[in-house]
Amino acid sequence: MRASAYPLIDADEAAALVLEHTPVLGVEHIAIGHCAGRVLAEDLIAEAPLPAFPSSAVDGFALRAADAGKTLRVVGESAAGRPFLGAIPPTSAARILTGGVLPDGADCVVMVEDVQLAGDNVTVPNALKAGTNYHKVGDDLKPGDRILAAGTQLGAAEIGVAAATGRANLPVRRRPRVALMSTGDELVEVGKRPGPGQIPDSNRWALLAALREAGADLNVLGIAPDQAEPLRRLVVEALRESDALVTSGGVSVGTHDLVKPLLESLGTVHVGRVKLKPGKPFTFASLDNQRVAFALPGFPVSSLVTFEVFVRPALRKMQGFAQLQRPSLPVRLAYHAKPTVDRTEYQRVTLHREGRELVAQTTGSQSSSRLMSLAGAHALVRVPAGDRTLKKGAVVEAMILSLP
Ligand code: AMP
Ligand code: MG
Repeated sequence: MRASAYPLIDADEAAALVLEHTPVLGVEHIAIGHCAGRVLAEDLIAEAPLPAFPSSAVDGFALRAADAGKTLRVVGESAAGRPFLGAIPPTSAARILTGGVLPDGADCVVMVEDVQLAGDNVTVPNALKAGTNYHKVGDDLKPGDRILAAGTQLGAAEIGVAAATGRANLPVRRRPRVALMSTGDELVEVGKRPGPGQIPDSNRWALLAALREAGADLNVLGIAPDQAEPLRRLVVEALRESDALVTSGGVSVGTHDLVKPLLESLGTVHVGRVKLKPGKPFTFASLDNQRVAFALPGFPVSSLVTFEVFVRPALRKMQGFAQLQRPSLPVRLAYHAKPTVDRTEYQRVTLHREGRELVAQTTGSQSSSRLMSLAGAHALVRVPAGDRTLKKGAVVEAMILSLP
């Protein structure tokens, strides 16, 4: 074992360095059918009013409110997509269907339930109000209104409103192409029987799921051996077509920990060790102005916690998200959260509701080798370094992974 040459950096400082050196990716215009989950690159501004024409909200009759109480002649029909041509004269009405254009001359719609129909004549109620039962031009959007802001993730409603304004394509940020690699001579493919001293490569699948959820487009490289030359060849090849490299293992100070020197030779290592638990060996490098590398510790929990703290926000920056961090909520601790003297700790908790509050219970032993401390966890409670225990009953902010 040798001592690490890298300074131990404060967790917040490390997170800031990662974001500072992570680029925002370019813009592409893609068909709206492929936009779900993507992030809008520019503000979307309305060019025309929505609705574009006054349209009926109900099935009934379009007429003048001034003709209240009269029996009117029905002069035609305005159905959705088949407008009544021309204007309706005074003391007349047009049958109108939901979505039909309000004919010129009419200023209200009366529901079919509220009239008496006899042949071509319709008797309307005594009290009518102009402007009722139809959608006015620009009710939803006026020209110049901001429809959606840059940095918004496109979900069903956002895609719906963009489509309603006639956009067939939208400007979105490119998704990061991420090469994913596990390192370690002890690893075997999941599903193969491990030989003596071997373990399944579980990090690959855990990180694959985490990367997908974060919006990455993946190039899965498999297992690299603990040998400098084959590792270098794999990494150099992978980086040719990637925006980011994510590796796990091989970053602590043991003799087989080859990833740091490799990244050092390919670019600039900004973070080599962090005052973080779990995740002290987390390493981050920029390889030129466009590409970044995240070398995560091998311990399964350390790799996923450092993913949450450093990699996920960076991938969101690449995609242009306005919101980089997970949401946080106040939770009441159901246990004493003991700190680590010299490192910020992210403790894994489950949440449940008690009245109006969310209550956080520890997932048990917080050992970084214990995947069961993270499986099923709803949140991470950040416990500052020092000697102050966050007491049972205290309310603290928690990083929410999922809600119960
Ligand atoms: P390392 O960071 O390479 O020293 O690994 C730390 C610990 O994590 C060791 O016990 C490794 O066996 C384990 N580990 C490393 N990579 C993986 C992986 N891909 N899946 C599961 N465990 C791993
Ligand atoms: Mg290793």
